[in-house]
Amino acid sequence: MEKIAYFDSSHEFPEEIISAAGFTPYKILGNVHVTNESSDKFLPAFFCPAAKSWLTEALKHSKDWSGIIFAQGCNTTNRHFDVWKLHVSSPFYYWLNCPMKDNIQAGKFFKREMFEMIKKIQSHFGVDISTEKLQQAIMQSNEIKTRLQHLSSLRSFKDIPNRDYLEIIKKSMQLPKKEVILILDEAIIEWNARAAFPAGTSRFFLTGSDVTYEEWMDTLDECHIRIIRDDLSIGERYFTNLIPEKKDPLDALVEYYFNVPRPATKPAIQQRIDNIFEVLDETQVEGVISQNLKFCEPFAYDSVIVNNSIREKGYRLIHLEREFTPVKDQQIVNRLNAFTEMLQEVSK
Ligand code: SF4
Repeated sequence: MEKIAYFDSSHEFPEEIISAAGFTPYKILGNVHVTNESSDKFLPAFFCPAAKSWLTEALKHSKDWSGIIFAQGCNTTNRHFDVWKLHVSSPFYYWLNCPMKDNIQAGKFFKREMFEMIKKIQSHFGVDISTEKLQQAIMQSNEIKTRLQHLSSLRSFKDIPNRDYLEIIKKSMQLPKKEVILILDEAIIEWNARAAFPAGTSRFFLTGSDVTYEEWMDTLDECHIRIIRDDLSIGERYFTNLIPEKKDPLDALVEYYFNVPRPATKPAIQQRIDNIFEVLDETQVEGVISQNLKFCEPFAYDSVIVNNSIREKGYRLIHLEREFTPVKDQQIVNRLNAFTEMLQEVSK
């Protein structure tokens, strides 16, 4: 099945429309192992390196994609769209306006935007995106989300390295959806058969910028930290809610995307904090890791208020800023080890 790639700085993009059109929605996630030399030519040094890596991927692989769609997200998204139109070749480019607000007017606006995108995809590719097809795609998305919810819940009491969790979510966002369901079913059997949660390992909640590469998750494992809950878009934000079943699938998509836990790219900081507290009330953790990728401004700005609120509630929290690199950062390892040691001392 051909792919339509999408640029999405959080979880804004209604990939169900792409599935209903008969394409595989492919979330561009870049590759931390490939140098950003090719995209450095077009963007200044202070641009988010994760998004630069997406441009690097597009410059090399856009010929494998039937089209590229941008979902309005952080400021990086807007600038990238302008650059990509000039330098990345693709037979189909589209910009989807995703509203910042989540009120009634914003809902009407988003529905109209999705409707316009559907019309454009239909006319460009000569496909029919019927109500029935959209409903089927929504059901398929929900099948994936339900399985991911199950897998995610196993992190608290089974031996699931942080890398395994990230890998399975990335596959869910990039592979053909039928294949994803088979992979998730196999993983459910395999993860359920795993050993119990490893002794001497601390349970943590992870918040902040999206983590796109497994090596950073390995660092946490090395420090005997397991992420058992998170609020990342390449994480729980992708599957926390199911898409409601409604007669009008576009109404269902509006309701769904407006109820996804809000990221820092939306002006909804209190909603973000409330969601974090809900998760922390549901699941006991020993600590919270807040991190932002260098030059990720939305999450860096939010982190001060969000982290103060979490600390005021009595949670132990460490904030880290990380580089975009697969190479282990020894300073981060030292800080995490010192933090977990301090937690153990306090709990004695
Ligand atoms: S890491 Fe931050 S700056 Fe980069 S795309 Fe994501 S939200 Fe935007």
